[in-house]
Amino acid sequence: IRTKSRVFKIVTIPGDGIGVDITEAAVAVLQKLAAVSGTFEFEFTEKDWSSKKYQERGYYMPEDGLDQLKKFDAIYFGAVGWPDVPDHISLWGLILPIRNALGQYVNVRPTRVLRGITSPLKDCGPGDLDWVIVRENSEGEYAGHGGTTHGAFSHAIATEVSIFTRVGIERIFRFAFETARSRPRKKLTMVTKSNAQRHGMVLWDKIFTEITKEYPDVETDKMLVDAMTVRMTLHPKTLDTIVATNLHADILSDLAAALSGSIGIAPSSNLDPTREFPSMFEPIHGSAPDIAGKGIANPIGAFWSAAEMVRWLGFTEAADGLMAAIENVTEAEIKTKDLAGASDTKTVTEAVCKEIEKVL
Ligand code: ATP
Ligand code: MG
Repeated sequence: IRTKSRVFKIVTIPGDGIGVDITEAAVAVLQKLAAVSGTFEFEFTEKDWSSKKYQERGYYMPEDGLDQLKKFDAIYFGAVGWPDVPDHISLWGLILPIRNALGQYVNVRPTRVLRGITSPLKDCGPGDLDWVIVRENSEGEYAGHGGTTHGAFSHAIATEVSIFTRVGIERIFRFAFETARSRPRKKLTMVTKSNAQRHGMVLWDKIFTEITKEYPDVETDKMLVDAMTVRMTLHPKTLDTIVATNLHADILSDLAAALSGSIGIAPSSNLDPTREFPSMFEPIHGSAPDIAGKGIANPIGAFWSAAEMVRWLGFTEAADGLMAAIENVTEAEIKTKDLAGASDTKTVTEAVCKEIEKVL
């Protein structure tokens, strides 16, 4: 007798450029995973909240857009941004309001060199660079606080104020410590620029010292962000879990993605740890206008993000199965051009679907 499987309502926002290609690929893989697993099902709803729509009608999402999203179990996001629309308009028109309104104060960005993928670091092979970057996702340099004075004149002044709050810092540290504690090495590195910034980053240092006392089993250290880029490149094996501000972690995770093979493989999860609202899963790459519509985008970052979504919904075995399927495909050298392969998006997607049948 088969027990009834659980149905999850997933809203997809493919967005722009290759966001559309990789979302389609991720949906195909998720459908396959659900069918083979038999313990859950997905019901997909697509929202065409793209830059093209913005240009036609003047907004990305409708006025009740955020309320619409709240009705789903999870959000799957492709990419947003197009050359004709300034990036700050697309970010503030779509993704940042979603992160802010749905309590997604954590952005988790795991890295690992997958089987069959070559790191540009010569001593790093499969399984290395096994890091989790925990990005503060709600404040800091992305607070949107500031303004412009005399913008049209030569003496224009613009301020971009970083906001850091005790509540915001404590909650991201707790999440990072819990993440570090759940991993074998139990090691957390906290990144700031507290030598050059006298307030916000100093508060990060102070609160880190306080919270460290709650987690005596977790080994900790502190790095300045500039030195951190050197350590990631020259001493990568000394790192495990990393916590940093919104801006610093954004930069460090692009570096981490490049070191693990390509920006096209890296996933991210925008989480509301309280689970009051749906969390959102998206590859870290952007819309890549240069390769949009060519069918050659690497869908691995999208698949890995899908695996993280499945994990968040509570299906660890299926998530691990999807990761194994992905790595079987990269190991078989079925890879896109950014990974020095010759396969297109569709071929990689079909290969992953086939592997899902084998591994689950
Ligand atoms: P964003 O502002 O959203 O971060 P971006 O302008 O930084 O976007 P991306 O779109 O992330 O840039 O990509 C930079 C370049 O990396 C692209 O132009 C493309 O050549 C390559 N790239 C990104 N993602 C992929 C992918 N999934 N597959 C293949 N190449 C990719
Ligand atoms: Mg970028």
